[in-house]
Amino acid sequence: METEKTKCLIIGSGPAGYTAAIYAGRANLSPILYSGMQPGGQLTITTEVENFPGYPSGIGGVELMEDLRKQAERFGADIRNGVATMADFSKAPYKITIDDEKVIEAQTVIIATGATAKYLGLEDEKKYAGMGVSACATCDGFFYRKKVVAVVGGGDTACEEASYLAGLASKVYLIVRKPYLRASKVMQARVMNNEKIEILFEHNAVGLFGENGVEGVHLVKRMGEADEERYDLAIDGFFLAIGHKPNSDIFKEYLETDEVGYIMTKPGTPCTKIPGVFAAGDVADPHYRQAITAAASGCQAAIEVERYLANLANLL
Ligand code: NDP
Repeated sequence: METEKTKCLIIGSGPAGYTAAIYAGRANLSPILYSGMQPGGQLTITTEVENFPGYPSGIGGVELMEDLRKQAERFGADIRNGVATMADFSKAPYKITIDDEKVIEAQTVIIATGATAKYLGLEDEKKYAGMGVSACATCDGFFYRKKVVAVVGGGDTACEEASYLAGLASKVYLIVRKPYLRASKVMQARVMNNEKIEILFEHNAVGLFGENGVEGVHLVKRMGEADEERYDLAIDGFFLAIGHKPNSDIFKEYLETDEVGYIMTKPGTPCTKIPGVFAAGDVADPHYRQAITAAASGCQAAIEVERYLANLANLL
């Protein structure tokens, strides 16, 4: 298989990957970055990004990622299409296989592969993508001021998103498939005490409807039971909060992950337990999952790479 060597390999092209590439490029490390399945990452599937500092009028997600890419290229980052399909961190240099057809031997690796929001798997989620369906209340909630929205899920994320949306929307339905919430007691209390939030226990969303965007959701109460009930509820926005899947599968053999799959790093740093391998952005962050926090950890990872390589050079 074709092999290529590099000082710094970055996997992933969201805010973490590109920011790491900007910093590593400016440190003269000539990083190679592979874009992954979704070049530009999760922000390319949102519409407007209004909470990234520096854009007083907001910026389109695609445009923001395009700017970050250009900025990284300006400093010498070699940005390529390709998906990392295998990792061997057993010894340095680390070997990453790209598209099952090429191996990159890297002295350092920054994993910035992100996380993918889970969807219910309904055809209508695709049909109304960007037209009323969202998996990020912090990103898209602002577009639903004084409107009616539904959040699906019963965990901490769903409760947090419902509480956040209740600060903007006129009404929030929380659609929970079980007769109870899985969220922590504090988060449960927060949604239960919020008069704008109505919890629909034992409900499943099975479809969406609307002419030019979401106008409502088809619901089933007590699905599969003798007293099953089907009805439609008018809403303007449909938010998924049923968990995220960190894109860490190919690294699990070598790195510690939590029970969901988030890569564990030394607290407050992007350092994994393998020297020279760093994890930045959503793949290592179950808590914040914001573009700006991902970008910040990408910066940290590139600075760690620089220091690690400088130490190696001093040892020679
Ligand atoms: P969780 O896995 O904790 O919860 C997912 C929720 O979505 C559950 O209620 C689950 O239902 C529901 N769900 C899953 N699949 C479906 C489906 N197909 N249809 C309908 N409902 C579905 O994920 P979270 O993202 O909420 O949390 C992930 C982790 O992050 C947790 O450890 C959480 O505590 C933590 N977190 C902490 C926060 C905080 O402390 N502020 C904020 C956000 C997250 P069911 O219960 O029936 O399985």
